[in-house]
Amino acid sequence: MRIPIQSVTPETGHAEVCGWVHEVRDLGGLAFFLIRDRTGIIQVTIPKKKASEAVLAAAKKVSRESVVRIAGTIKAMEKAPGGRELVPDTFEIVNLAETPLPLDVSEKVGAELDTRLDARFLDVRRPRVAAVFQIRSAAMHAAHNYFHKKGFISITTPKIVAAATEGGTELFPIAYFDKEAFLNQSPQLYKQMLMAGGFEKVCEIGPIFRAEEHNTTKHLNEATSIDIEVSYADHHEVMRILEDLIVKIYEYVNRSCSDQLANLECTDFTVPKAPFTRLPYREAIEIAQRTCSEPIQYGDDISAAAEHAIGDEMGSHYFITDWPTEIRPYYAMPYEDDPSICKAFDLMHPRMELSSGAERVHQYDLLVQQIKKKGLNPESFEFYLRPFRYGMPPHAGWGLGAERLIMTMLGLSNVREAVLFPRDMHRLVP
Ligand code: ATP
Ligand code: MG
Repeated sequence: MRIPIQSVTPETGHAEVCGWVHEVRDLGGLAFFLIRDRTGIIQVTIPKKKASEAVLAAAKKVSRESVVRIAGTIKAMEKAPGGRELVPDTFEIVNLAETPLPLDVSEKVGAELDTRLDARFLDVRRPRVAAVFQIRSAAMHAAHNYFHKKGFISITTPKIVAAATEGGTELFPIAYFDKEAFLNQSPQLYKQMLMAGGFEKVCEIGPIFRAEEHNTTKHLNEATSIDIEVSYADHHEVMRILEDLIVKIYEYVNRSCSDQLANLECTDFTVPKAPFTRLPYREAIEIAQRTCSEPIQYGDDISAAAEHAIGDEMGSHYFITDWPTEIRPYYAMPYEDDPSICKAFDLMHPRMELSSGAERVHQYDLLVQQIKKKGLNPESFEFYLRPFRYGMPPHAGWGLGAERLIMTMLGLSNVREAVLFPRDMHRLVP
């Protein structure tokens, strides 16, 4: 029976392992193979004089990255990975890999990101790359777990929709029988409708689609959004949930992924401390005016350069709060005493925005007024507006980008490193 390579110890005795041929070395009388599976690497040593004909024939024929099944005796061997080696009785080539390989899995030869993404199935065999996705899996598990414990109802909302969330142009049109439809850019309207449905606390981890013609290291055209909406909560309460979730995800990764973090040489991994600073938008602009070379004014969106300048000053996660109503979506709640600013916030990592949220407008008349103010037509939002006429509780929520969370957590230089098969303006395959 096959055992995972990581659990083979010098005491194991006889063992059978399956995996890929990571490296081949022939030293005349001895042939060495490194065999790799998802859990680790083991050295297979073949003394040519003592080995059977069948073992020698297979060892001669096998190429790197072929799948093999090898059984034999485990011996202690200080210099080998894990302090043990396998001396085979049998050496079966399960599936022979073609040569040359499109990508060097052992990472002796570096490769551009594009080459890596073209051969992603091989790229993710690299332990360092696999570690990113094992950590991402752990982070998503921690998020699901958190929501479940806090009584959230996990929902899935349609990704094929008839209307834009914010009426923007950032939508992918699709052919839907004889109608025009789009891929949804956010579950925003649907999670709000479920507040009228009485679910009180909903969460969704799912895809969002943005037809933005960005070519940056932090934008994808298909991303994963971690979304919540909570009834009777204000913006303060959902900010507390957000910082609590971030800390819990970091803690869980720290606890459960030490091997992966070591593999990534992620030395600056630190669990952030809550509460995060609440920085009013006005003060964020003042910092940017002082420290950023690009000019910026009250009322402007915060550019990438300004984001960096403010992030450098702040040093760790922080919220930007109290945004001008004019530059936030129609569903953000204006302050009662000063409607020129609203109860919206962004969660920032020093490198970039991670999340946007707000207390929402729950009054039908105000919502219609705000939709009109943005130059949008309330009629195209009829399905969304209807629930606001029949008992909509006050509510608040946010959306957090999963890829940016992983990217900033692990210090990855490109958001494409945090998604298995990234979609961008130039990449639709694989
Ligand atoms: P940015 O201004 O950085 O482009 P945004 O304000 O347009 O982001 P939101 O609509 O507020 O993004 O979406 C909420 C979160 O979803 C963002 O903070 C981000 O983490 C994530 N997100 C949004 N768009 C993308 C994208 N194109 N690629 C990756 N993540 C995204
Ligand atoms: Mg945003």
